Amino acid sequence: MRITRPRDLSGALDGLDTYPQAKVLAGGTDVMVGVNLDHHRPEVVVALRRVEELNTWEDRFIGAGVTYARMESGPLPALAELARTVGSPQIRAVGTLGGNLGTASPAGDTLPFLAALDAEVVLASPNGVRRLPWDEFLLGPKLTALQPGELILGVRLPEHLPVQQAFAKVGIRQSMVIATVNCCVVRDPDGATRVALGAVAPTVLRAHAAEQLVSAERRPSEATLDEFQRLVSQEVSPISDHRATEAYRRHAAGVLARRTLERCLTT
Ligand SMILES: Cc1cc2nc3c(=O)[nH]c(=O)nc-3n(C[C@H](O)[C@H](O)[C@H](O)COP(=O)(O)OP(=O)(O)OC[C@H]3O[C@@H](n4cnc5c(N)ncnc54)[C@H](O)[C@@H]3O)c2cc1C
Repeated sequence: MRITRPRDLSGALDGLDTYPQAKVLAGGTDVMVGVNLDHHRPEVVVALRRVEELNTWEDRFIGAGVTYARMESGPLPALAELARTVGSPQIRAVGTLGGNLGTASPAGDTLPFLAALDAEVVLASPNGVRRLPWDEFLLGPKLTALQPGELILGVRLPEHLPVQQAFAKVGIRQSMVIATVNCCVVRDPDGATRVALGAVAPTVLRAHAAEQLVSAERRPSEATLDEFQRLVSQEVSPISDHRATEAYRRHAAGVLARRTLERCLTT
Protein backbone atom coordinates (compact mmCIF):
# COMPACT_ATOMS: atom_id res chain seq x y z
CA MET A 1 0.00 0.00 0.00
CA ARG A 2 1.46 3.36 -1.03
CA ILE A 3 0.68 6.23 1.36
CA THR A 4 1.07 9.90 0.50
CA ARG A 5 1.00 12.45 3.32
CA PRO A 6 0.51 15.90 1.78
CA ARG A 7 1.05 18.92 4.01
CA ASP A 8 -1.41 21.23 2.30
CA LEU A 9 -4.59 21.22 0.24
CA SER A 10 -2.89 21.63 -3.12
CA GLY A 11 -0.63 18.66 -2.27
CA ALA A 12 -3.70 16.57 -1.38
CA LEU A 13 -5.47 17.53 -4.62
CA ASP A 14 -2.28 16.77 -6.57
CA GLY A 15 -2.19 13.36 -4.90
CA LEU A 16 -5.72 12.61 -6.08
CA ASP A 17 -4.86 13.87 -9.57
CA THR A 18 -1.78 11.64 -9.79
CA TYR A 19 -3.53 8.60 -8.29
CA PRO A 20 -7.22 8.80 -9.29
CA GLN A 21 -7.85 5.39 -7.68
CA ALA A 22 -6.44 6.55 -4.32
CA LYS A 23 -8.48 6.22 -1.12
CA VAL A 24 -8.71 9.38 0.98
CA LEU A 25 -7.98 8.74 4.65
CA ALA A 26 -8.76 11.15 7.49
CA GLY A 27 -9.03 9.53 10.95
CA GLY A 28 -9.45 6.10 9.36
CA THR A 29 -12.18 5.02 11.80
CA ASP A 30 -14.45 4.02 8.90
CA VAL A 31 -11.83 3.30 6.22
CA MET A 32 -9.78 0.94 8.37
CA VAL A 33 -12.85 -1.02 9.49
CA GLY A 34 -13.40 -1.78 5.79
CA VAL A 35 -9.75 -2.75 5.32
CA ASN A 36 -9.79 -4.99 8.40
CA LEU A 37 -12.95 -6.72 7.16
CA ASP A 38 -11.34 -7.14 3.72
CA HIS A 39 -14.09 -5.09 2.05
CA HIS A 40 -11.44 -3.08 0.22
CA ARG A 41 -7.66 -2.85 0.11
CA PRO A 42 -6.59 0.45 -1.46
CA GLU A 43 -3.32 0.43 -3.38
CA VAL A 44 -2.79 4.13 -2.75
CA VAL A 45 -3.90 6.21 0.23
CA VAL A 46 -3.93 10.01 0.44
CA ALA A 47 -3.72 10.71 4.19
CA LEU A 48 -5.15 14.08 5.19
CA ARG A 49 -4.08 14.40 8.82
CA ARG A 50 -1.36 16.96 8.07
CA VAL A 51 -3.41 19.13 5.69
CA GLU A 52 -3.64 22.36 7.65
CA GLU A 53 -6.52 23.90 5.65
CA LEU A 54 -8.78 21.01 6.71
CA ASN A 55 -8.11 21.62 10.38
CA THR A 56 -9.34 25.21 10.28
CA TRP A 57 -12.33 26.17 12.48
CA GLU A 58 -13.09 29.82 11.98
CA ASP A 59 -16.36 31.35 12.98
CA ARG A 60 -18.99 29.74 10.70
CA PHE A 61 -16.56 27.46 8.81
CA ILE A 62 -15.65 24.08 10.29
CA GLY A 63 -12.89 22.20 8.45
CA ALA A 64 -13.37 18.59 7.39
CA GLY A 65 -10.42 17.54 9.55
CA VAL A 66 -11.93 18.80 12.80
CA THR A 67 -12.17 15.84 15.18
CA TYR A 68 -14.95 14.95 17.59
CA ALA A 69 -12.53 15.73 20.44
CA ARG A 70 -12.38 19.33 19.20
CA MET A 71 -16.16 19.50 18.64
CA GLU A 72 -16.70 18.34 22.25
CA SER A 73 -15.11 21.48 23.61
CA GLY A 74 -16.30 23.78 20.84
CA PRO A 75 -18.81 26.65 21.11
CA LEU A 76 -21.80 24.94 19.44
CA PRO A 77 -23.96 23.20 22.07
CA ALA A 78 -25.60 20.55 19.88
CA LEU A 79 -22.36 19.75 18.06
CA ALA A 80 -20.54 19.35 21.38
CA GLU A 81 -23.37 17.21 22.68
CA LEU A 82 -23.40 14.88 19.69
CA ALA A 83 -19.60 14.60 19.66
CA ARG A 84 -19.68 13.32 23.24
CA THR A 85 -21.92 10.42 22.12
CA VAL A 86 -19.59 9.23 19.35
CA GLY A 87 -17.60 6.01 19.84
CA SER A 88 -14.92 6.07 22.52
CA PRO A 89 -12.23 8.63 23.43
CA GLN A 90 -9.91 6.90 20.94
CA ILE A 91 -12.48 7.26 18.10
CA ARG A 92 -13.22 10.87 19.08
CA ALA A 93 -9.51 11.72 19.09
CA VAL A 94 -9.13 10.91 15.38
CA GLY A 95 -12.62 10.63 13.80
CA THR A 96 -13.55 13.71 11.78
CA LEU A 97 -16.48 15.70 10.49
CA GLY A 98 -15.28 15.17 6.89
CA GLY A 99 -15.11 11.43 7.47
CA ASN A 100 -18.68 11.35 8.78
CA LEU A 101 -19.82 13.24 5.67
CA GLY A 102 -17.66 11.09 3.37
CA THR A 103 -19.13 7.88 4.76
CA ALA A 104 -22.66 9.33 4.55
CA SER A 105 -24.15 6.63 6.78
CA PRO A 106 -27.88 7.20 7.35
CA ALA A 107 -26.98 7.06 11.08
CA GLY A 108 -24.00 9.48 10.99
CA ASP A 109 -24.27 11.62 14.11
CA THR A 110 -23.10 14.95 12.68
CA LEU A 111 -25.65 14.82 9.87
CA PRO A 112 -28.83 15.81 11.79
CA PHE A 113 -26.92 18.79 13.20
CA LEU A 114 -25.87 19.93 9.72
CA ALA A 115 -29.37 19.38 8.33
CA ALA A 116 -31.08 21.24 11.20
CA LEU A 117 -28.81 24.23 10.65
CA ASP A 118 -29.13 24.12 6.85
CA ALA A 119 -25.35 23.88 6.52
CA GLU A 120 -23.52 23.91 3.22
CA VAL A 121 -20.80 21.39 2.37
CA VAL A 122 -17.70 23.05 0.90
CA LEU A 123 -15.84 20.99 -1.70
CA ALA A 124 -12.41 21.64 -3.22
CA SER A 125 -11.00 20.41 -6.52
CA PRO A 126 -8.26 21.60 -8.89
CA ASN A 127 -11.00 23.71 -10.55
CA GLY A 128 -11.70 25.65 -7.32
CA VAL A 129 -14.24 25.54 -4.53
CA ARG A 130 -17.97 24.80 -4.74
CA ARG A 131 -20.63 24.85 -2.03
CA LEU A 132 -23.59 22.49 -1.89
CA PRO A 133 -26.58 22.60 0.47
CA TRP A 134 -26.46 19.54 2.76
CA ASP A 135 -29.39 17.90 0.95
CA GLU A 136 -27.66 18.21 -2.42
CA PHE A 137 -24.50 16.64 -1.01
CA LEU A 138 -26.08 13.70 0.86
CA LEU A 139 -27.83 11.69 -1.84
CA GLY A 140 -28.55 8.36 -0.15
CA PRO A 141 -27.07 5.65 2.05
CA LYS A 142 -23.27 5.98 1.60
CA LEU A 143 -23.88 8.10 -1.49
CA THR A 144 -22.73 11.70 -1.87
CA ALA A 145 -22.28 14.28 -4.63
CA LEU A 146 -18.47 14.18 -4.18
CA GLN A 147 -16.82 13.99 -7.62
CA PRO A 148 -13.59 12.14 -8.47
CA GLY A 149 -10.60 14.30 -7.59
CA GLU A 150 -12.65 16.36 -5.13
CA LEU A 151 -12.17 16.73 -1.39
CA ILE A 152 -14.52 17.86 1.37
CA LEU A 153 -12.98 21.07 2.63
CA GLY A 154 -15.49 21.55 5.43
CA VAL A 155 -18.95 22.90 6.19
CA ARG A 156 -20.26 26.42 6.32
CA LEU A 157 -22.97 27.21 8.87
CA PRO A 158 -25.41 30.09 8.38
CA GLU A 159 -24.64 33.51 9.87
CA HIS A 160 -27.53 33.26 12.28
CA LEU A 161 -27.25 30.34 14.70
CA PRO A 162 -30.19 29.49 16.99
CA VAL A 163 -29.28 29.66 20.67
CA GLN A 164 -31.63 26.84 21.56
CA GLN A 165 -30.20 23.64 20.11
CA ALA A 166 -30.12 20.06 21.33
CA PHE A 167 -29.10 16.61 20.08
CA ALA A 168 -30.22 13.18 21.25
CA LYS A 169 -29.68 9.61 20.18
CA VAL A 170 -31.23 6.22 20.85
CA GLY A 171 -29.10 3.10 20.56
CA ILE A 172 -29.05 -0.45 21.80
CA ARG A 173 -26.74 0.62 24.65
CA GLN A 174 -25.40 3.81 26.16
CA SER A 175 -22.02 4.13 24.46
CA MET A 176 -19.97 2.80 21.52
CA VAL A 177 -23.16 2.49 19.56
CA ILE A 178 -24.42 3.41 16.12
CA ALA A 179 -27.71 5.30 16.42
CA THR A 180 -31.00 3.49 16.06
CA VAL A 181 -32.46 7.01 15.76
CA ASN A 182 -30.69 10.35 16.22
CA CYS A 183 -32.17 13.81 16.24
CA CYS A 184 -31.20 17.47 16.36
CA VAL A 185 -33.64 20.29 17.13
CA VAL A 186 -32.83 24.00 16.87
CA ARG A 187 -35.21 26.82 17.80
CA ASP A 188 -35.21 30.61 17.59
CA PRO A 189 -36.75 32.88 20.25
CA ASP A 190 -39.66 33.64 17.87
CA GLY A 191 -40.50 29.92 17.79
CA ALA A 192 -39.03 29.05 14.35
CA THR A 193 -37.96 25.42 14.78
CA ARG A 194 -36.02 22.95 12.66
CA VAL A 195 -35.98 19.21 13.32
CA ALA A 196 -33.65 16.72 11.62
CA LEU A 197 -33.51 12.96 12.17
CA GLY A 198 -31.08 10.23 11.17
CA ALA A 199 -31.30 6.43 10.79
CA VAL A 200 -34.97 6.68 9.88
CA ALA A 201 -34.68 7.13 6.10
CA PRO A 202 -32.06 6.50 3.35
CA THR A 203 -30.36 9.67 4.51
CA VAL A 204 -30.92 12.32 7.17
CA LEU A 205 -34.28 14.09 6.81
CA ARG A 206 -36.12 17.15 8.08
CA ALA A 207 -39.58 16.75 9.61
CA HIS A 208 -41.16 19.72 7.82
CA ALA A 209 -44.79 19.26 8.87
CA ALA A 210 -43.80 18.91 12.52
CA GLU A 211 -41.52 21.96 12.21
CA GLN A 212 -44.32 24.04 10.76
CA LEU A 213 -46.75 23.04 13.51
CA VAL A 214 -44.45 23.82 16.42
CA SER A 215 -42.98 26.99 14.88
CA ALA A 216 -46.39 28.63 15.07
CA GLU A 217 -46.43 28.67 18.90
CA ARG A 218 -43.97 30.43 21.19
CA ARG A 219 -44.93 28.15 24.06
CA PRO A 220 -46.27 24.93 22.55
CA SER A 221 -49.10 23.38 24.54
CA GLU A 222 -49.20 19.70 25.55
CA ALA A 223 -51.69 19.10 22.73
CA THR A 224 -49.27 20.67 20.23
CA LEU A 225 -46.40 18.56 21.55
CA ASP A 226 -48.55 15.42 21.20
CA GLU A 227 -49.34 16.36 17.62
CA PHE A 228 -45.67 17.24 16.97
CA GLN A 229 -44.64 13.76 18.14
CA ARG A 230 -47.31 12.14 15.95
CA LEU A 231 -46.25 14.12 12.88
CA VAL A 232 -42.56 13.23 13.31
CA SER A 233 -43.47 9.53 13.56
CA GLN A 234 -45.51 9.92 10.39
CA GLU A 235 -42.84 11.81 8.43
CA VAL A 236 -39.99 9.34 8.88
CA SER A 237 -39.61 6.30 6.62
CA PRO A 238 -37.43 3.79 8.47
CA ILE A 239 -36.58 0.20 7.65
CA SER A 240 -36.33 -2.86 9.88
CA ASP A 241 -32.80 -4.18 10.32
CA HIS A 242 -30.64 -5.95 12.91
CA ARG A 243 -30.75 -2.86 15.17
CA ALA A 244 -34.51 -2.19 15.30
CA THR A 245 -37.83 -2.75 13.61
CA GLU A 246 -39.48 -0.18 11.39
CA ALA A 247 -42.27 0.23 13.99
CA TYR A 248 -39.83 0.79 16.87
CA ARG A 249 -37.84 3.38 14.91
CA ARG A 250 -41.01 5.24 13.92
CA HIS A 251 -42.18 5.36 17.54
CA ALA A 252 -38.70 6.25 18.88
CA ALA A 253 -38.32 9.07 16.33
CA GLY A 254 -41.47 10.80 17.60
CA VAL A 255 -40.57 10.39 21.27
CA LEU A 256 -36.95 11.42 20.75
CA ALA A 257 -37.85 14.50 18.71
CA ARG A 258 -40.39 15.59 21.33
CA ARG A 259 -37.92 15.16 24.21
CA THR A 260 -35.22 17.01 22.27
CA LEU A 261 -37.64 19.85 21.54
CA GLU A 262 -38.68 19.96 25.21
CA ARG A 263 -35.02 20.33 26.18
CA CYS A 264 -34.72 23.23 23.74
CA LEU A 265 -37.78 24.87 25.28
CA THR A 266 -36.21 24.86 28.72
CA THR A 267 -32.83 26.35 27.73
C1 LIG B 1 -15.79 1.82 17.27
C2 LIG B 1 -16.43 2.85 16.38
C3 LIG B 1 -17.45 3.65 16.90
C4 LIG B 1 -18.08 4.60 16.10
N1 LIG B 1 -19.08 5.37 16.64
C5 LIG B 1 -19.71 6.28 15.84
C6 LIG B 1 -20.78 7.05 16.37
O1 LIG B 1 -21.14 6.96 17.54
N2 LIG B 1 -21.39 7.94 15.53
C7 LIG B 1 -21.00 8.09 14.22
O2 LIG B 1 -21.58 8.91 13.50
N3 LIG B 1 -19.99 7.35 13.70
C8 LIG B 1 -19.33 6.45 14.48
N4 LIG B 1 -18.33 5.71 13.96
C9 LIG B 1 -17.95 5.89 12.55
C10 LIG B 1 -16.79 6.87 12.33
O3 LIG B 1 -16.01 7.05 13.52
C11 LIG B 1 -17.30 8.25 11.89
O4 LIG B 1 -18.07 8.13 10.71
C12 LIG B 1 -16.16 9.23 11.66
O5 LIG B 1 -16.68 10.54 11.54
C13 LIG B 1 -15.32 8.93 10.43
O6 LIG B 1 -14.30 9.90 10.36
P1 LIG B 1 -12.81 9.52 9.94
O7 LIG B 1 -12.03 10.77 9.96
O8 LIG B 1 -12.28 8.42 10.77
O9 LIG B 1 -13.06 9.03 8.44
P2 LIG B 1 -12.24 7.99 7.54
O10 LIG B 1 -12.47 6.61 7.99
O11 LIG B 1 -10.83 8.43 7.37
O12 LIG B 1 -13.01 8.27 6.15
C14 LIG B 1 -14.39 7.94 6.03
C15 LIG B 1 -14.82 8.20 4.57
O13 LIG B 1 -14.79 9.59 4.28
C16 LIG B 1 -13.87 9.88 3.23
N5 LIG B 1 -13.23 11.14 3.59
C17 LIG B 1 -12.69 11.48 4.79
N6 LIG B 1 -12.29 12.77 4.77
C18 LIG B 1 -12.57 13.24 3.54
C19 LIG B 1 -12.39 14.52 2.90
N7 LIG B 1 -11.88 15.57 3.54
N8 LIG B 1 -12.78 14.65 1.61
C20 LIG B 1 -13.34 13.59 0.96
N9 LIG B 1 -13.54 12.39 1.50
C21 LIG B 1 -13.16 12.21 2.78
C22 LIG B 1 -12.94 8.66 3.17
O14 LIG B 1 -12.37 8.47 1.89
C23 LIG B 1 -13.90 7.56 3.54
O15 LIG B 1 -14.68 7.18 2.43
C24 LIG B 1 -17.66 4.75 14.74
C25 LIG B 1 -16.62 3.97 14.22
C26 LIG B 1 -16.01 3.03 15.04
C27 LIG B 1 -14.88 2.20 14.46
